[in-house]
Amino acid sequence: MKTGSVLVTGGSGFLAGHCILALLAAGHRVRTTLRSPQREAGLRAALASAGIDPGARLDIVTADLTADAGWAEAVAGCRHVLHVASPLSAAAPKHEDELIRPAREGTLRVLRAAHAAGVERVVLTSSFAAIGYGKPLSRPYAESDWTDPSAPGLAAYPKSKTLAERAAWEFVDGEGTSLELVVINPVGIFGPLLGPDMSASILLVKSMLEGRLAALPRLMFGVVDVRDVADLHLRAMTDPAAAGERFIATAGDFLTMQEIAQALRDRLGPAADKVSTRVLPDWLVRLVARFSAAARQAATPELGRRKNASSAKARAMLGWEPRPAAEALAATGESLIRLGIVPGR
Ligand code: NAP
Repeated sequence: MKTGSVLVTGGSGFLAGHCILALLAAGHRVRTTLRSPQREAGLRAALASAGIDPGARLDIVTADLTADAGWAEAVAGCRHVLHVASPLSAAAPKHEDELIRPAREGTLRVLRAAHAAGVERVVLTSSFAAIGYGKPLSRPYAESDWTDPSAPGLAAYPKSKTLAERAAWEFVDGEGTSLELVVINPVGIFGPLLGPDMSASILLVKSMLEGRLAALPRLMFGVVDVRDVADLHLRAMTDPAAAGERFIATAGDFLTMQEIAQALRDRLGPAADKVSTRVLPDWLVRLVARFSAAARQAATPELGRRKNASSAKARAMLGWEPRPAAEALAATGESLIRLGIVPGR
């Protein structure tokens, strides 16, 4: 008999931690996977410091996306799975397979195990990176759009998320037909950190607050708060209408890096004194990219490109109401200060 537990993969991650908090707050029992069992104490402490002591309502299984061990145990007795874990790194990997293999094969591993265990529904955390890269559009991107994984110059991360999500839909269209799949496609996730681990999106705010980004490339991002993305996962998990659907998660219109920097300055006052709002011309980014790996990450086909997306579908179908982008960005900065990761002023 099913206990109705929810499995959240990768409990040590930024979004997964907030999903676990939201599930516990809603009264669910939660199981989560960790690559390393040594991280359990840190996870429990982070949840407790956010106001929820999980006690026996949280159990941990050790599992890695690149190996079969642990996944059957992880899904056993679960009615729902939130598959959140996927590699995300601020630096470009030496080889794209470092991201693609765990993302794609790990997703299939989780889906196969879930299907074999009779799980009802899997909510997969994909990304806007699987929707809006490699193909410029003059209108806002929508759930019907897909990143072309063979587009020239496409970075390893959007490729990994596109291939993983494609594989997931193919699985439920084929051997896993009895399994319901819902996919969430968040833009850049910001908001409060639960502990000292930092996802790549948070490192952007940290670098800005530390004054390490003296000038900003002309790149545009969507912003969404991690608490709202977690809330959308829970809605996607339970709403009957969500089955078989993708949902873009963005707080509002996309922002330039300059607008993100300005929002931090406006909301954080003296703590954001080092945040630069100077813009780097595209030609200079491309020139510096010949010598610098960091600049190469900005000198992508996305440089200088205006883009946007809408979460009208999640709002209309699931009643989702995210908080404004500036609030999400300010919450990241405030938590970096509170945790002593960046100085308060
Ligand atoms: P994060 O904090 O870096 O979390 C990533 C999680 O994936 C960690 O728990 C990590 O475990 C786990 N992981 C990585 N490789 C693994 C492997 N081989 N086996 C098992 N676990 C592995 O990033 P996040 O922001 O929370 O991202 C969560 C999800 O949201 C990802 O699917 C990401 O693609 C998606 N997403 C993120 C953003 C964003 O802006 N952050 C935007 C859109 C979508 P360890 O702690 O052991 O490394």
